[in-house]
Amino acid sequence: EAVVVDPISAVEAVGPGPHPRIAKPSDIYGDERVNSSGVDLSVGAERDRLTAAVAALGTLTPPPETTSAQIDKAFAAARLAQPAWNAADGPARAKVLRAMGDALEAHQDRLIAICAREAGKTLADGVAEVREAVDFCRYYAHLAEEKFAAPELLKGPVGEVNTLSLHGRGVFVCISPWNFPLAIFTGQICAALAAGNAVLAKPAEQTPVIAAEAVKLYHAAGLDPRLLALTPGRGETVGAALVAHPGCDGVAFTGGTETARRINTSLAGREGPIVPFIAETGGLNGMFVDTTAQREQVIDDVILSAFGSAGQRCSALRILFLPKDTAEGMVAGLKGAMDCLVVGDPADPGTDVGPVIDAEAKEALEKHLHRLNAEATVLHRLAAPAEGTFFGPVLAEIPSADFLEREVFGPILHVVRYDPEDLSSVAGMLASRRYGLTLGVHSRIEAFAQEVAELVPAGNVYVNRSIIGAVVGVQPFGGEGLSGTGPKAGGPNALSRYALERAVSVNI
Ligand code: GLU
Repeated sequence: EAVVVDPISAVEAVGPGPHPRIAKPSDIYGDERVNSSGVDLSVGAERDRLTAAVAALGTLTPPPETTSAQIDKAFAAARLAQPAWNAADGPARAKVLRAMGDALEAHQDRLIAICAREAGKTLADGVAEVREAVDFCRYYAHLAEEKFAAPELLKGPVGEVNTLSLHGRGVFVCISPWNFPLAIFTGQICAALAAGNAVLAKPAEQTPVIAAEAVKLYHAAGLDPRLLALTPGRGETVGAALVAHPGCDGVAFTGGTETARRINTSLAGREGPIVPFIAETGGLNGMFVDTTAQREQVIDDVILSAFGSAGQRCSALRILFLPKDTAEGMVAGLKGAMDCLVVGDPADPGTDVGPVIDAEAKEALEKHLHRLNAEATVLHRLAAPAEGTFFGPVLAEIPSADFLEREVFGPILHVVRYDPEDLSSVAGMLASRRYGLTLGVHSRIEAFAQEVAELVPAGNVYVNRSIIGAVVGVQPFGGEGLSGTGPKAGGPNALSRYALERAVSVNI
């Protein structure tokens, strides 16, 4: 006779018991390189520790803007130290990168607290932020070992030895955004360092404190301070000076598409060697749902993708395409799920949606909401605290993707009802915006997912799940078109443009 196992009663029989702790979340992945740190916010003591870390912070004092004399000095010091770092092999550099990751892990509570206070990140987002930064240190250490240990022997004619080796380019300028003020800041730096470069790092002007804290930790962990200089300041002044400096051998940038274009133009106009540019920019990300999709799953994934991190991710969901036959029920479910979101102080463990980054960001969202009210249909809006820079999540219906010219960065989700007969023209309109970062599909029909992915080119396609939170080493992250140049962060090719390739052929 067949034994039927009822999973629900099996769990009930065991009872909730003590919280089963996994020694390291990395066990899930079976790999020490990724997902290797974390705080479990469902455990009271861990929550309390973070709340205490926030309370212990005191005033955050941003470092002053870098002067042009300091920029010259930082380039000169980096130029002196880089050859020895480059000459050391990949495994030697990997040791330092791992020590940097360990230092972040050891100070994670304070770093999470700074993320909450300086960047308005919820505690859960702060946990993920530190974890991702640690993952970048370890994953790029692994790539340094794998790709920079020894020259690769290539196939060739008998009597000739052909090798290809990778080297640092020199001094990299890394310009990072405020929405991942530790993770992307660290990811760029570690990629450049792993490949054998020195780095001048300019954090976003909104989040220099967490960057300064991280750089202090990296130096204390054993990184020669000449190899990594923090150069805080505004993009128009410090950023522009760094990129235009004759000492700059490469630029890695994450931020807005317009800024990427300005940097590219500046680099193109320079005298001397041609400088590589790695840009990771915005997205106008869509998710296509068909009538076979599982409603609860769609609602969960949409809420997280659109309103998680207050919608301030370039991967965030901006346009949800719902089939006209089931749209009504989905919208009702979404409204109900939105009502469960808590908008408020990011340092409160119960908060789901914190503030947007600053008054300017809030104003841009208000302006867009005004347009939605005038030209589209606002279906739902959550209230938000009036003080500060909170913006209550919005659900609005628009006629088509054509309504949006560009990315709207924040917790506003647009819905388009579509007739499945018109899928190719509806999806084509989204593709015609020329972004290509993330794309979601919810369907139980594989052919539907394939069709959508063909119609809307995107760097990261997610099927039947949320479209945010790419894990280093697991979901290499980055887009195409207006969304960036690649190579993808956290993927096996991430270091390729940070490095020079040299081929040597010896006739023996
Ligand atoms: N890597 C992040 C994610 O997958 C997004 C990065 C960004 O917003 O720049 O959600």
